[in-house]
Amino acid sequence: MVSHKPVIFVVEPFGGSIRWHNPSLPLIYWDDYAVTRGDGIFESILIRDGHAANLERHAQRFCTSAAALGLPEPILNSWINATQAAIEEFGEGEGKCTWTYSRGRASTGIPTAWVSIQPISDVVLAQREEGVRVMLSERGWSFPSELPAKTLNYAATMATLRLARERGFDDVIFTDPDDGHVLEGATSTVVTVKGDKLRTPYDDTILPGTTQAALFAHAESQGYRCKQKVIDVDYLLAADSVWLVSSTRVAARVRRLGEDKLKAPDNENEIRSLIDAAMTRG
Ligand code: PLP
Repeated sequence: MVSHKPVIFVVEPFGGSIRWHNPSLPLIYWDDYAVTRGDGIFESILIRDGHAANLERHAQRFCTSAAALGLPEPILNSWINATQAAIEEFGEGEGKCTWTYSRGRASTGIPTAWVSIQPISDVVLAQREEGVRVMLSERGWSFPSELPAKTLNYAATMATLRLARERGFDDVIFTDPDDGHVLEGATSTVVTVKGDKLRTPYDDTILPGTTQAALFAHAESQGYRCKQKVIDVDYLLAADSVWLVSSTRVAARVRRLGEDKLKAPDNENEIRSLIDAAMTRG
């Protein structure tokens, strides 16, 4: 039977037990740095056919993020066991699994860690089918580290998304305010398709996407030529198609970019299947 309730397993951060948590009850304390500072990291992982897609890439990025924030190295076995237990509890159907690892309580200094799975929202399911209207927005902030980190601090991103929605858009692509180069989506990686060429923006402030990495590995094996490249907005406008790729939404085609309509390419379904297949293999 398909369960539609969220599932939570608390992870003991130093390798102890995992434990089920009732999703109707509170989980973290008032002085947790996740709440007071957005100080922590996370991963969002697609659960499909009882399987966590692309798990190795997520686990790797999780460890890199922890190192960038100076958090204790995650005990991956615990996270993977909690994920497995949560998948069993969640049951059939696609889900969004989130690993959250906070610096923890100010009063104890012990990190807080948990895994959750929830159904994929109707908005996300619709955007897979219908694509998205995207607002361009300059981004003047980045995480101050040599290592890329997927931090909990998305307040500025969420504010930009709210602004986009007020203006009739569904999503955002950030650009560099200095040179206008394309960076990434609010919660996704930009990928362009032109003939047999797949491109994703190059910039060291971009979070390396697990979906884009899986897509490029799979697409190369199917004869596509894939590369990172410095990209500007004109390059997006000249592509056959532009996609926002990310773990749970998988792929949403950009059908409007600012005031420009991007018409559907003949191979829209082929590209969507290519991205989908990359996730299923991961
Ligand atoms: N870039 C940002 C800023 C993100 O928040 C995300 C995902 O949440 C991505 C890119 C895509 O990463 P992934 O494909 O690993 O989900």
